[in-house]
Amino acid sequence: MQSTKQVAERWGVRRDWVIEMCRTGDLPAEQIDGRWFIHESVVDHYKRRPRKYGNSEALFWSRVNKSGPNGCWLWDGAHVGSGYGQASFGGVRQVAHRVAYELTVGPVPESLQLNHLCRNRGCVNPAHLEPVTASENKRRAWETSSLHSATYRAMVGA
Ligand SMILES: [Zn+2]
Repeated sequence: MQSTKQVAERWGVRRDWVIEMCRTGDLPAEQIDGRWFIHESVVDHYKRRPRKYGNSEALFWSRVNKSGPNGCWLWDGAHVGSGYGQASFGGVRQVAHRVAYELTVGPVPESLQLNHLCRNRGCVNPAHLEPVTASENKRRAWETSSLHSATYRAMVGA
């Protein structure tokens, strides 16, 4: 692990720029006691200064762990409260699985949501994602929720 000061010296950039990249998620980094630390592998990978956001795609995939259960690709970066991965891509904060899908498959229309076929919200494997309408996504979530199974059992008298 290297401090932002070390990385700034190594790359010959301003330290606040490195801190900003850590904060936005463009650099895989960990925050310990309020200070950012960058993994050596990343520092070595970019021997020279990375172009701002120009390396977003490589950095994005460097945060994906492809050895999850059932073929899930797990997002190693930040997660929002609902369990979805959060990525900063091209300077914009977005859900990680949408970025993964758009990078590998193609654009998802604004009106559609990506449904996790694997039910693992932290998964970004495009093969596990299917674009569906918001109402279909809600219906599926309800269908698999325990609340539904209880309600369903009561309904059918099971
Ligand atoms: Zn999955």
